[in-house]
Amino acid sequence: MTRCGLCSTEISQSVCPLCLTDKFEAWIEKKKLSLVKPFREEVRTMLDKTRYGKISCKICRSEHEKAICMNCYAGKIHSFLAKKDEKLAAQFLQDFAPKSERSELYA
Ligand SMILES: [Zn+2]
Ligand SMILES: [Zn+2]
Repeated sequence: MTRCGLCSTEISQSVCPLCLTDKFEAWIEKKKLSLVKPFREEVRTMLDKTRYGKISCKICRSEHEKAICMNCYAGKIHSFLAKKDEKLAAQFLQDFAPKSERSELYA
């Protein structure tokens, strides 16, 4: 069973942090290119705080030693965006709102 290395919640959608990063980075790149670099730094900091575990990613089909659930990941990125650009943070919530989390972001 895969658990989030930050909040210990069971992860139902096995997607590794790298693939999550790709997805969010693509979104940020489209919205505001200048935030891509600080975004990457934010992700690195987040991964540093994540406990070791194991996740088999269903997208890239490889195993990773750190797993982060969508709630933690999106939450962190949202607070990062809120510090940088409030409008963008609001858009982020619209696009990745928790209520749509169950609707298979990666379907
Ligand atoms: Zn979590
Ligand atoms: Zn992956």
